[in-house]
Amino acid sequence: MALFKTEKKAPRGPAGKWDVVVSEEMCKACGFCLHICPTDVFGWRKVTNRLGWFPIYTAHEEHCVGCMLCYQICPDFCIDVAPRAGGMN
Ligand code: SF4
Ligand code: SF4
Repeated sequence: MALFKTEKKAPRGPAGKWDVVVSEEMCKACGFCLHICPTDVFGWRKVTNRLGWFPIYTAHEEHCVGCMLCYQICPDFCIDVAPRAGGMN
């Protein structure tokens, strides 16, 4: 499924300089973040969270380019992306 195809062309910054934190217990597994991420940072957990969903987790944080698309699209405010301390030098 080619969701968010246009947005996938818009990487922003250098990779490997961002912290990507998913609040997995709040995730409802809609998959929006996984589909919008241009660099395939996210993966699915194989065990359920307390809500009964198989949540998203940060599988490849080193690929993140800080575009913030996942942060903007998550309907449950589960994702935080921030520059890694000392990582933007
Ligand atoms: S900010 Fe989110 S969508 Fe953008 S590259 Fe990083 S993990 Fe992927
Ligand atoms: S967009 Fe939010 S709720 Fe949807 S799968 Fe990603 S982290 Fe979970």
